Amino acid sequence: MALLQIKVYVKSYLAAAAPNKVPPDKRVAAHVRDTTLKDHCLHENLYKAESSLATQLRTEKIGFNAFLAQLRVPNVSSDCTCGHPDQTVKHVVLFCPDIDRSNENLSPSSDLNSILTNAASLRKAVRWLIGLNILPQFHLARELLWDNINSS
Ligand SMILES: [Zn+2]
Repeated sequence: MALLQIKVYVKSYLAAAAPNKVPPDKRVAAHVRDTTLKDHCLHENLYKAESSLATQLRTEKIGFNAFLAQLRVPNVSSDCTCGHPDQTVKHVVLFCPDIDRSNENLSPSSDLNSILTNAASLRKAVRWLIGLNILPQFHLARELLWDNINSS
């Protein structure tokens, strides 16, 4: 079967399986349903891994348990390590008591929307999260980023 045929089949299968799903262009978290979603300035001065994490934070499609449980990843519940019922971006960035905030260096604002829509705050949040090493897929990025920072 040609790749194009597979794509058409998968697309029609998904459309039939979930006809009332939100259209792709609307699938973003509430706090980023604004015009800044396509603001490329937010990603300026970010390494590729940082830019990826910024997008994941803003869309909440990130390797935190709430999203993984939503995807029905086996043996994953939405609980946070601290016992909070949902390990979401907001919980991890602002409230989780298990997270070391001593090097957070975010803006004094505790408003997630302003953190995620301001280029400087977003960059700080992304670098802080990579530094925490809580997202396995960013372990290599952390090593490379820190090596880069330490060598410059
Ligand atoms: Zn927590």
